[in-house]
Amino acid sequence: MATAEDNLMDWLRDAHAMEKQAEKMLQAQAGRIEHYGPLKTRIEKHIDETRRQAERLERCIERRGGSTSTIKDLGGQGMAMVQAMTGVLMTDEVVKGMLTSYSFEHMEMGSYRILAAAAEAVGDTETKQACETNLREEEAMAAWLDEHFHEVTQQFLAASQQPGATAKR
Ligand code: MG
Ligand code: FE
Repeated sequence: MATAEDNLMDWLRDAHAMEKQAEKMLQAQAGRIEHYGPLKTRIEKHIDETRRQAERLERCIERRGGSTSTIKDLGGQGMAMVQAMTGVLMTDEVVKGMLTSYSFEHMEMGSYRILAAAAEAVGDTETKQACETNLREEEAMAAWLDEHFHEVTQQFLAASQQPGATAKR
């Protein structure tokens, strides 16, 4: 039977893999955006945050006696590639990208709420704090997207009316 400690370790590793995937997805997105400066800048800021989040998780895993050398980040690369390639085919890439990010941020938020509860259950205050720090950054990213759907959508629609415009990214 898995102990709460075992579950916490599994979930920390899952979150680490999630952040590695996030980093690749965000890099693929930021690398393609040309005409949406504030969005690109915000994504690049979140890439830095995402790297620190992964490091924070690594420290929690190590502190709890787990090894980070066996951490695999399979999956993320493939996903990011699929996303970047799909973008080539989509005419509304920037809008779909925001939507993907928005749902990803909410998955991250849920993961860190679960992790914070599990860390509390086993009395690991440092892990709880690390997960709450990550949670606040995901909430801030989701809130930024929330506040910019309107502007980006309208910019996309207006640019789409210009002949020869590359509104999609
Ligand atoms: Mg994250
Ligand atoms: Fe995030």
